[in-house]
Amino acid sequence: MNVNDSEKVAGLLLADGYQRAEHAEEADVVFVNTCAVRERAAEKLYHAVGRLKQLKSRKPGLLIGVGGCVPQLQGRSILDRARAVDVLVGTHNVAQVPALFRRAREESGPFVDLDRGADSFVVPASVVAHSDPVRAYVTVMEGCNHVCSFCVVPRTRGPEACRAPEAIVAEVAGLVARGYPEVMLLGQTVNAYQYEGVDFAELLAHVDAVPGLKRLRFTTSHPEHVGARLADALRDLPRVCPYLHLPVQSGSDRILASMRRGYTRGQYVETIALLRDRVGDIALSSDVIVGYPGETEEDFESTVDLVDQAGFEGLFVFAYSARPGTTAFRLEDDVPEDEKRRRVAVLNARQQRAQQRLNAGRIGSRDEVLVDGVAEGGRVTGRTRHFRIVHLAGPADLLGRTVEVEITGAGANSLTGKLPNDSLTGAFRAPIL
Ligand code: SAM
Repeated sequence: MNVNDSEKVAGLLLADGYQRAEHAEEADVVFVNTCAVRERAAEKLYHAVGRLKQLKSRKPGLLIGVGGCVPQLQGRSILDRARAVDVLVGTHNVAQVPALFRRAREESGPFVDLDRGADSFVVPASVVAHSDPVRAYVTVMEGCNHVCSFCVVPRTRGPEACRAPEAIVAEVAGLVARGYPEVMLLGQTVNAYQYEGVDFAELLAHVDAVPGLKRLRFTTSHPEHVGARLADALRDLPRVCPYLHLPVQSGSDRILASMRRGYTRGQYVETIALLRDRVGDIALSSDVIVGYPGETEEDFESTVDLVDQAGFEGLFVFAYSARPGTTAFRLEDDVPEDEKRRRVAVLNARQQRAQQRLNAGRIGSRDEVLVDGVAEGGRVTGRTRHFRIVHLAGPADLLGRTVEVEITGAGANSLTGKLPNDSLTGAFRAPIL
């Protein structure tokens, strides 16, 4: 979502006549987009502005803009710590960035727009400067109505607001016309999407029907909104890829209740059983927070046990970070930092071993890979429909195409493959699916 926000700002500036600079040293304006979800992410803003301030002292006309969740959370107080900032916008105000930079060029600022009431969907779809040549992100909803105790997102992005399905379908059709084979629908709790009676499963059906689209993905889903309708959409809609990122956060019922996640460990396990039962071969990944206030060794072991049981293909493990304005902020952050780091390392090591085992079992199989990157030395990289990364030898013009690949090697985080012999005639001819 942050990437997509940056793509919107970049597109608005390009539409206003700017050109992209390779380095900050060559730029007339620099925009820093921020994340507030963990303290360390939020602090990065001050390091970035500190570096840019030095540049500004050598290049006085340089304008610095800051946007995203940190301004929305910390407000104008950012300007006390980061005096070099000329433009400050919140999560709903990116459309104002070009106008504010224009004013900052004429008069001395800072110019601030943190209005939460603004419509965050006003950036025209045609303006977004998509940064990936293959996968285009499309925001379908903003904000979150959940009340997870640890999470700052409802404060920074506000309550849920959904875009009309017609606008989403039109944007996807436009992207396909521009040559994007894959679209990823974005929302903080994307599967809670509701717009005048259209739920997320129905939205998927509308987007799936866009002619020419090859693959459709979405993120992030909340376990509470996964049911038979979504599972059946994953099974039946031909472009929807069988992969779901489904953050569990903890395997301990005590911690899940304190986190106010809205489900128990048993209900989460039932949800993934439902998905596997109805969809069949589906890949799942998840997020976990360790070191949440009051998390005992026993609670942590419950999480390790759940992760072992779930068979995730990817896992993001975060050390709990107390965030101002959240309900958990009032709880004592009592797990020492080195113990949090140990728990992160334990889970990561176990998960890596599990992924290595799962991936090793794929050697010898064939899979459809959409090539999304070109590497050095005649190599390309891509993803399977299950979102597994595959590296292979192949020409750069495979970018954006799907090829059938034979899996020949496996690491914990990616697979290697080759174009099967039976598909090669003379020179490099890949089967284009
Ligand atoms: N709903 C969002 C999404 O789109 O995925 C959550 C955004 S957040 C960037 C992703 C993950 O960060 C969460 O699933 C959670 O595991 C983690 N996280 C959120 N708040 C946190 C906190 N206070 N401390 C540590 N990790 C946190």
